Amino acid sequence: MLREVRAGRVLPPAELVALHDCAGRVLAEDILADRDYPPLARSARDGFAVRAADFPGSVRVIGEVRAGDRFQGAVQAGEAVEIMTGAPVPDGTDSIIMVEHITGEGAAITTDRPVKSGDFINLRGCESPRGSVVLRAGSRLDYAGLAMLATVGRTLAPVYRKPRVAILATGDEIVDVDELPMEHQIRNSNSASLAAQVARAGGSALILPVARDTYKATRESIALGLQADLLLLSGGVSAGKYDIVEKVLAEFDAEFFFDRVLIQPGQPLVFGRAGGKFFFGLPGNPASTMITFELFARAAVALLSGASESPLHLLQARLTREFRHRPGLTRFLPAVLSIDGSQITPTGWQGSGDVGAMARANAFLVAEPERESWAAGDLMRVLAK
Ligand code: AMP
Ligand code: MG
Repeated sequence: MLREVRAGRVLPPAELVALHDCAGRVLAEDILADRDYPPLARSARDGFAVRAADFPGSVRVIGEVRAGDRFQGAVQAGEAVEIMTGAPVPDGTDSIIMVEHITGEGAAITTDRPVKSGDFINLRGCESPRGSVVLRAGSRLDYAGLAMLATVGRTLAPVYRKPRVAILATGDEIVDVDELPMEHQIRNSNSASLAAQVARAGGSALILPVARDTYKATRESIALGLQADLLLLSGGVSAGKYDIVEKVLAEFDAEFFFDRVLIQPGQPLVFGRAGGKFFFGLPGNPASTMITFELFARAAVALLSGASESPLHLLQARLTREFRHRPGLTRFLPAVLSIDGSQITPTGWQGSGDVGAMARANAFLVAEPERESWAAGDLMRVLAK
C-alpha cells in the first residue's frame, strides 16, 4: 500500500506558514543552518576555563565570563577564568573544570584531577556547521522542529499545503448527529472519528453528506469525493446485499489493490485508485473504521501530505491478566496502558460496534495471528492510540 501511494502520489504545492502555526506541518524544503551552531566555542558547565596542561595543579582566577558576555583578553599559563554554562570560552583556554571538582582559596583554584583538552567545551559548529541541513524536506515539524526553525531565524517556513481528504459515510441507517434517530437508526459517528484522525495525520478533512445505499446516491457522492486528494468511505464494503461501494467504484474504472486484510476488526478493507485519486473503503463498524484508518489510511494521508515516513507507534507492555483469542487474524483490542507504559489491560468490549470501549481505551492490544493465549505478565505488543 505504501509503495503504491509513494509511486502514485502528487505532492501538494508548498506555502509559507508562520513559525507558530507550523506544528504538525510537513517541510517542503530542506532548512539550512544560517551560521555555525554553536556560533562559537561554548562552555557546557558552570566552572573554570583553564589550560589543560596546568593540571593537576593550582591556577590563579583572573576574571569571569557569563552567558551573553565575552571575556576580553587572553588567558596565560597558570591562569583561569570563572565561566558559566553557555558562555563563550575565553581565548587561550582549552578546557573547562566543573565547579564541583575544584577547591579554592582566595583567587586560586586547585584540582588534583587530570584535565583533558576539550573537556566540557562545545566547539564552534559542532552541532550544525553553517550551510548544513538542520531539517529535511519531508519531515513533520514537531516541537523540536519548531525550536530548530526558531534557532535558525525562520519566522516563516515552507510547508506543503494539507491534502484535502473527503469523508463519505454510507448507509440507510445512518442519520446526522443533530437528528433524533429512530430505534433502527444510528447517528453518524464515523465521520467525526475520521475527521479527527485525518486532522491528526496532517490532512484537511471535508465531510460529505451521508450517502444512502442506492447506486445513484453512492455514485454521485463518490464523484464528489474523488475531487479531493484522497477519498475515505465508511460502510458498504462487506458482503451484504446493500454493500455496493465496491461495485460503484468499479463503475469509475477503479483499480483495486486489495479488498480484504487479515485483521480484526476491519477485514473487508478496500484500497484502490480511481481517476488518479486514491480511496479507502473502510468497513462501517466504528471500531473497524477507526482501526483500519490508523493501520492503513493514516500512512496514506501522511505520505500525501508530503511526509517521507509515518511509522506506527508500537510498543510492548506486560499483560495484567490472561488473554486468549482465536488464531488466524491479527486482532486489535481496546485496552488501557498504565501511565508508565509498562502494563496493559484489555477493556471489556462488546465487539466492533462498541464506541464506548474505544473511547475509554488509550491503546490497542495487538494479538498476533499465530498465538492463542497469553498469561498475566507476558509481554504483548501494543499500538498507541
Ligand atoms: P456496513 O459496513 O455498512 O455493513 O456497516 C456495519 C455497521 O456499522 C452498521 O450496521 C452500523 O451499525 C455501523 N455503521 C456504519 N456506518 C456508520 C457510521 N457512519 N457511524 C456509525 N456507525 C456506522
Ligand atoms: Mg452499510
